[in-house]
Amino acid sequence: MTYVKGLKCKECGHRVPATPVHVCEQCFGPYEVEYDYEAMKGKVTRESIAAGPHSLWRYKDLLPVDVPRTGFNSGMTPLRRAPNLEKLLGCREIWIKDDSCNYPTYSYKERVVSVSISKAVEFGFDTVGCASTGNLANSTAAHAVTAGVKCFVMIPHDLEQGKVLGSLIFGPTMVRIKGNYDDVNRLCTEIADKYGWAIVNVNLRPYYTEGAKTFGFEIAEQLGWKLPQHTISPTAGGTILPKIYKGYQEFIELGLVEDNKPKMYSAQAAGCNPVVTAIHKGSDIIEPQKPNTIAKSIAIGNPADGYYVYNVIKDSGGWGESATDAEIVDAIRLLGKTEGIWTEPAGGTTLAVAIKLIQQGRIPKDESICICITGNGLKTLETVQDALPYPEVINAKLNEFDAIIDRLGETKSEPELATV
Ligand SMILES: *Cc1c(COP(=O)(O)O)cnc(C)c1O
Ligand SMILES: [Zn+2]
Repeated sequence: MTYVKGLKCKECGHRVPATPVHVCEQCFGPYEVEYDYEAMKGKVTRESIAAGPHSLWRYKDLLPVDVPRTGFNSGMTPLRRAPNLEKLLGCREIWIKDDSCNYPTYSYKERVVSVSISKAVEFGFDTVGCASTGNLANSTAAHAVTAGVKCFVMIPHDLEQGKVLGSLIFGPTMVRIKGNYDDVNRLCTEIADKYGWAIVNVNLRPYYTEGAKTFGFEIAEQLGWKLPQHTISPTAGGTILPKIYKGYQEFIELGLVEDNKPKMYSAQAAGCNPVVTAIHKGSDIIEPQKPNTIAKSIAIGNPADGYYVYNVIKDSGGWGESATDAEIVDAIRLLGKTEGIWTEPAGGTTLAVAIKLIQQGRIPKDESICICITGNGLKTLETVQDALPYPEVINAKLNEFDAIIDRLGETKSEPELATV
């Protein structure tokens, strides 16, 4: 049983059956899955969801999949209160939605991949692939194994070692491509056409993007069926931010949460901030950039759904900011020292931007705030290597240890805000 009506163009409203197509045949706009919300009312309830599995498949009624084929342990990552950040920033209520521990490859991408690969198998594809900045490749490769399909992952040539090995371990064919993500993405569009594969974020994009709603569903359910007033999310291709918001709106529509007019905020790296630049200009034309930042996982200079991020920011009354590479590293360390979470540069970007927005007064300190942490720091050792001086070596002698303790007494300090 599914509530899917079909695909509908986000621009002109043209409808087609739910097939592996992504571009509107009339206006070249993107197709999005359309559901029968009336039929869901009274059937999709807090109770029906809570009775589901402890994974993202508890929201299956709101996803475009008949039979889940992978991702049975993905999702339902912690939503954690951040008391030390609250104290440091003078805020009443900060939550961290922590996908750095999502299973099995430690990023938010398990959500989009679980849905798109399940759909690919349903459509009868025997080969999947992706154009990736690293995390998507990791997740696609792992889920392809459990779904029993062949896998090709295409990445820019200069990704972090953790992202490369983090895919290879699952045995896909990996191709490193000279150029940035936007070049890789363009090639993958041609590959999808020529080889007839399911490229999860290209020709299966309408299904892929729906998986990101589960990030928003979980925040709402885990908050006790409430929405945070302010949600700060990173923006790369522009999938996750509008889909968290869509998740919130669907729960409102179904009467599962109260409409508190949640506001959305976009975080980008200063070295790749086409959407934030558009927000600051007040123009919905997203001008492509050439990325230059340590935040490689979100370095997309020509985001497919940047326009929709812009619209959600504007409609919800939110905003966007960017963070320099130095601010990103500081924020990665701050999150580690305050809340015991090790995130990658995407998460550092999001926290650095959240701090800016709070300090600017755009996000009031007495309202509820949710910071979206989307990836794990263990994959990006390079980014903090120089910021964390390697410990000295001593002989196994108590007096040498004592000397360290003496010196610590002089230097030990509480975490502080580099940006204050
Ligand atoms: C892919 C990714 C994002 C967000 O990308 P969107 O394309 O905007 O959904 C955020 N953080 C990490 C770590 C990612 O890998
Ligand atoms: Zn159209």
